[in-house]
Amino acid sequence: MSMLEVRNLTVRFGNMVLVDDVSFTVEPGERLMIVGPNGAGKSTLVSAVAQGVPYEGTVLLDGKDVRSFKPAELARRLGMLMQTHFVGYSFSVEEVVRLGRYAHARNFLAARSEGDNEKVAEALASTGLTDMADQSVLTLSGGELQRTFLAQVFAQDPNLLILDEPTNHLDLVYQKRVFGLINEWLGSPRRAVLAVVHDLSLARAFATRVMLMCHGRLVCIGTPEETLVSEKLDAIYEMDVRGWMHDLLVCWQ
Ligand code: ADP
Ligand code: MG
Repeated sequence: MSMLEVRNLTVRFGNMVLVDDVSFTVEPGERLMIVGPNGAGKSTLVSAVAQGVPYEGTVLLDGKDVRSFKPAELARRLGMLMQTHFVGYSFSVEEVVRLGRYAHARNFLAARSEGDNEKVAEALASTGLTDMADQSVLTLSGGELQRTFLAQVFAQDPNLLILDEPTNHLDLVYQKRVFGLINEWLGSPRRAVLAVVHDLSLARAFATRVMLMCHGRLVCIGTPEETLVSEKLDAIYEMDVRGWMHDLLVCWQ
């Protein structure tokens, strides 16, 4: 049984179709990466899978319709890092990361457990935020804020991690570290990652499978070798993708 099965998912806004009849599966241990031009519907698709926007169609987790899960149960199975973050209050970094643990509380007022403190400390350390734990999130740089929300979803520790441009705002050191962390995290059984990335080289290096999206539709899905090919990329980006990547690399020689 697939860990995630998406069947005929469609998202409409007024009379616009933002995601058009998309079906795919994610298997345990997978790193499925979604790529495609701006406005292709990538964020809308992953938000719908994470139950963040209304959709038509079916989303199954381990064969069960997600609509039947209670919020805390859903949060133990599925965690999402959004492309943009909203911070309205002066929470500390640690407080924001700790919010990820509510999925594991027996009830909303349950006392903090030892396990929670450990998970929070681990998530802070692995994202390089231990020294900033008490700083207000309102004062963070874009990259620090991105790492805070990454730490939150790692502390949440769901089975399926959905990441929308996880390396957005991150410098090279943290880009590398985030993908290292994801790979490490995938070392335990019954885990998988579904990520939107705009960097095709990252998709090529880290994906087990890649989905190409354009105009709300799934163009193709398969191994990086099958999908990240000039013929397909040039059609969806309407440019010579390989030529541009090559020109960029040549500058380093
Ligand atoms: P991507 O993540 O691939 O760049 P999005 O999923 O964010 O694309 O957006 C897909 C399209 O849907 C875009 O053209 C965007 O402007 C539009 N869109 C997204 N959210 C809304 C919304 N709430 N209302 C109207 N249009 C939207
Ligand atoms: Mg997006």
